[in-house]
Amino acid sequence: MRFPFSRTAPVPAPATAATETGDGGILLETSGLTKSYAGADGELPVLSGIDLTVRAGEIVALLGRSGSGKSTLLRCLAGLLPPSSGTVRYRGTPLTGANPGTALVFQTFALLPWLTVRQNVELGLEARAVPPRQRARAAEQAIDLIGLAGFENAYPKELSGGMRQRVGFARALVVEPDVLMMDEPFSALDVLTAENLRGELMELWDSGQFPTRAVVLVTHNIEEAVLMADRIVVLGSRPYGTIRETVEVGLERPRDRGSAAFDELVDRVYRIMTGRPKDTRPAARPDPERPDPERLDRRTVANTPLPTASVDGLSGLAEMIAHRDGRCDLADLAEELGLDIDDMLPQVDALDLLGFAEIHGDDLLLTEDGTAFAHADVQDSRALFAGAALDVPLVKLIANSLGGAPGTTLRAGFFRDLLAHHYTSEQVDRQLETATDWGRYAGLFGYDAARQEYRLDEAQPGTMPR
Ligand code: ADP
Ligand code: MG
Repeated sequence: MRFPFSRTAPVPAPATAATETGDGGILLETSGLTKSYAGADGELPVLSGIDLTVRAGEIVALLGRSGSGKSTLLRCLAGLLPPSSGTVRYRGTPLTGANPGTALVFQTFALLPWLTVRQNVELGLEARAVPPRQRARAAEQAIDLIGLAGFENAYPKELSGGMRQRVGFARALVVEPDVLMMDEPFSALDVLTAENLRGELMELWDSGQFPTRAVVLVTHNIEEAVLMADRIVVLGSRPYGTIRETVEVGLERPRDRGSAAFDELVDRVYRIMTGRPKDTRPAARPDPERPDPERLDRRTVANTPLPTASVDGLSGLAEMIAHRDGRCDLADLAEELGLDIDDMLPQVDALDLLGFAEIHGDDLLLTEDGTAFAHADVQDSRALFAGAALDVPLVKLIANSLGGAPGTTLRAGFFRDLLAHHYTSEQVDRQLETATDWGRYAGLFGYDAARQEYRLDEAQPGTMPR
């Protein structure tokens, strides 16, 4: 144990610890990491080909949208999930179980309500069989370090969200892990509390008082990643989690959110996250010469996952852009509206998929159809939307499958089974929800939630005349 640490006798600055590990300071290393979860056709990959290193002295951010596999990757690094293939090494040794060099901080705090702050913090040490007196001393120091002094005997329900998360930090730090792992630790907090906590943590890190050698931070917040990380690993999620690009953040600390260099990096990361690998662009209109359009649909359904975006949300975004003369910078718009990427990027994808908007560099541009859609009244808007939605593979598949005869019904389970060959069950649920929302708004088909059935009503055209 390296305890006790204190403000007057700081532990060595993290960077100086690099030499201890030999091996260029590499603490964690994955090679060819793949992780799959069960699907209808067996295992479906959610992470593939992940090669990642975490070195002593650095903060690495894993950045990606919801569903890109960040939490899965963090759990693999912590040894809580075995990889499906590839390896995770801690200080050169492949993991066979929980990683002894890591401790985790969760988004939802995960405190035991019947234990006091002190007892919750000591939990981390009990699991490691530290004798009671040492435990008490270590807990007191961690509590002091993280700004919880005075709250030792409080129960979690007496604490604000920020104070609860401090307990989460103290509980992880009390074991002095080589690598502190944080899974969206600020995202359940209000904006001001989150900013305060980030600032305090960064001060501790910069001053060398942080009793850990490296940090892995999972986040979907681009600014948070640029503010805190030395390196940002951007995960993409099409069709499954891969590393899109790694960005070195060379900014001096403490970092200035207002600086041009900070803005430039935020924009760059936005570009990486909104860029699209070429082979997964929305499918072109089916070739009329093809004999079996439905087969083609099934193939494109596999390559064109629907974003989780409601008609209201994507319409709102289209109107926002229209008010800005049809063009706007994504990072600026997000900041102005106080949206994070999980609120905004699915809507951006939706507009793109529907042919209502295109991404050019940092900017989102409404197309001609998108401009018409943004300005249309309700009836016209539905008609325009119907035309666009029929180019979206899953919506088209449902509409096509219903044929064209009013009264036809089809179980949602039919599409669920079909999608289950390509996506995990959570992904299937989300996509069907979107397709149902879009198809209903477009008037292409109806949906009976109680019977879980799609159906074609009198007034509904199903597929448009060809
Ligand atoms: P993130 O943390 O980036 O939001 P996750 O790692 O939680 O992503 O999930 C990645 C993908 O794996 C998602 O599509 C999710 O639905 C799926 N997934 C996560 N956990 C499980 C599980 N236990 N079983 C099946 N699928 C899962
Ligand atoms: Mg997650």
